[in-house]
Amino acid sequence: MEIDKNKNYEIIVFANQDEGMKAQRILLANNVDFKHISTLAVVVPEEEQLEICRVLAGEGLIISGFYNFLYRDYEEDFFRRAQDYKPSTNEGKFLKSITLCYVAPCIADETKIRLIAYFSSDISEILPYLNTVIKGASYNKNGPTLTYTKGRKIINLYNIKIAIAKADDIIDAWNILDEIKDLINETHKNKDTITPNNEAKVKITALQIYGWLPKTNCKLCQEATCLAFAAKLLLGEQKLQNCSLLFSDPKFSENRKLMEEIGEALWF
Ligand code: SF4
Repeated sequence: MEIDKNKNYEIIVFANQDEGMKAQRILLANNVDFKHISTLAVVVPEEEQLEICRVLAGEGLIISGFYNFLYRDYEEDFFRRAQDYKPSTNEGKFLKSITLCYVAPCIADETKIRLIAYFSSDISEILPYLNTVIKGASYNKNGPTLTYTKGRKIINLYNIKIAIAKADDIIDAWNILDEIKDLINETHKNKDTITPNNEAKVKITALQIYGWLPKTNCKLCQEATCLAFAAKLLLGEQKLQNCSLLFSDPKFSENRKLMEEIGEALWF
């Protein structure tokens, strides 16, 4: 399929190489026109994407997700980067694989993507070591979760999964997942020489969240004060949408976007 710059396209992403190769065989057998990105994703015309997903799902295929292929905004070298990307073949001793299970556009910025991937084994025991190794990470031992940023990306590690917000595109996402897999395996290999850090450092505080709220104490969220709402938001006991002022008054839209971005990482 030749990409026409004036048409809209979608990138369909698959969970792993086996699923991706199976998908491409099914698409060929059904005479579906698509552009190959790698064994892990294809580009299809936007208007055909739902029908194509239906065909694939009918064959029992697992689709991680899809998002707009914004060709006009992409760097011209997108397909070159895609060809250069080789899925990691490093068989880790501790963590064998990471399976990409969910891909979608970011809520606050649809030109970026967010994703959830699952580890082949529980990494809880490594999180305190990663808390030492990754500078500037926020560790919550009660989760347990480890949150850190890489450029504009927000990365959240849980015991069995990883959530990433604001990846540039799917190639960026695959590279981050490969890096993280290698980092986890390297940290596990060297753990006898690393002092684990069990200190819970939660960098985002209720007071910071309060600073981004309208501070009217209007109680529309059913909380007595904005500060109480902030504290519950941090604990995952409230939803941002319950502060209706944030969504109805344009003067709070920047703060709302910021909290949505942070929330993507902390409250998946
Ligand atoms: S709805 Fe929003 S502004 Fe009103 S009390 Fe709750 S957090 Fe504060």
